[in-house]
Amino acid sequence: MVDEQQPIFVVQHHLATADHYDLRLEVDGVLVSWAVPKGPTLDPSRHRLAIRTGDHDLAHADYEGASERSVVQVWDRGTYRNTSHDKHNRPVPPAAALERGHLSVWLEGVKLRGGFTLIRTRQDDRSWLLVKKRDETAESGYEPTEHETNSVLSGRTIEDIAAG
Ligand code: MN
Repeated sequence: MVDEQQPIFVVQHHLATADHYDLRLEVDGVLVSWAVPKGPTLDPSRHRLAIRTGDHDLAHADYEGASERSVVQVWDRGTYRNTSHDKHNRPVPPAAALERGHLSVWLEGVKLRGGFTLIRTRQDDRSWLLVKKRDETAESGYEPTEHETNSVLSGRTIEDIAAG
């Protein structure tokens, strides 16, 4: 069930200079973004590098298409719940969690469902890790980007989109 009050997330498969997946989470009216070269995984033992990139407008969550230099596919889309807590188990709002470099979310997408954590690897650095939490939605060895390749918006593969 999609609760309209919940903030949205999107994962866009992006073919540009390098093939990557952009994870974007709605926080305070913008899409906070990371480029994940290998894409999200459901395997908690596979920590994925996630490079923090610039915030995007909310409208970008619906963008899918091809231009001369890049192709964008809406690979997954849905809502999320912030599940970030401090060491005393008190809830931490998303903006504060980003500042602390440790943001936990529960994603409710079409392909991705469950707990994920974004962890900044060093203070004052754009390098983060995207890690699947060990919960009932974890699946050892499963790479959704390999098996679920169609757009959740249009059903098209990225090759279809590239072809126009
Ligand atoms: Mn990108």
